[in-house]
Amino acid sequence: MKRILSLILAVMFVVCCFAGCNTGKPEETTAPEVKDEAPALKTVEKGKLIMATNAAFAPYEFKEGEEFKGIDVEIAQAVAAKLGLTLEIKDMNFDTLLNVVNEKKADIVLAGLTVTPDRQKEVDFSISYASGVQSIIVTEDSEITSVDDLLAEGATYIAGVQLGTTGDTYATDDMGEDRVYRYVNGNEAVLSLLKGEIQCVIIDNEPAKKYLDANPGKGLKILDTSYIEEDYAAAFAKGNDELRKAVDKAIEELIADGTVDNIIKKYIK
Ligand code: GLN
Repeated sequence: MKRILSLILAVMFVVCCFAGCNTGKPEETTAPEVKDEAPALKTVEKGKLIMATNAAFAPYEFKEGEEFKGIDVEIAQAVAAKLGLTLEIKDMNFDTLLNVVNEKKADIVLAGLTVTPDRQKEVDFSISYASGVQSIIVTEDSEITSVDDLLAEGATYIAGVQLGTTGDTYATDDMGEDRVYRYVNGNEAVLSLLKGEIQCVIIDNEPAKKYLDANPGKGLKILDTSYIEEDYAAAFAKGNDELRKAVDKAIEELIADGTVDNIIKKYIK
């Protein structure tokens, strides 16, 4: 008797469910809603993941016409897709990026951004998704052959850096304010090197290669010795744990299934 009763109840329940949910749409959309589904992520603009970057940093972020391209752009697109959000990109000067997330004008920074203890006081970082190296660009006839030459006692060489980057911080710490010229992007620094106004440019290795590619036959080279090795990660407003954890999970999955690797390989041969 009990069994029959529970069977009837179960049938009634199923019938009621379908009656309540069926909207006349194709079958797959009629599934009952999952009640305890996680609430939508709170972002600066509902349904969007707004990424702040400096799109003068190929192969990580650059523009082709009006279109943003690069490793960070594609990783952010893949993360946004996993979170059910639409990616929107805001292009700005590198040294303003961390403020922009803290002022809630963007949700996330991806900018070949190095994790450093100083920046960790200002923003929260995701897990790292790539690594970089600070390299030194010189002219082919340069007397500078290593980091040691640059930092030697009594050396007067001037280094160009991009304002607010780790290259800027390390060079300023090691060589002093007077021997470091700061530019709004790496391209300006390279132009200055070509004019002979400075003797080297300290910048991340992959963008350094791109600057050389963009200036063929102009007698530039990258020194074999690297200045320092670093980890790149995404940054969030301090305390935005909900978004950070969701992005961390997405990046973890994208690393595990090979997506991140494939994106990097597409841009770095
Ligand atoms: N990796 C360097 C930094 O975080 C440079 C990044 C950049 O210029 N986009 O400071």
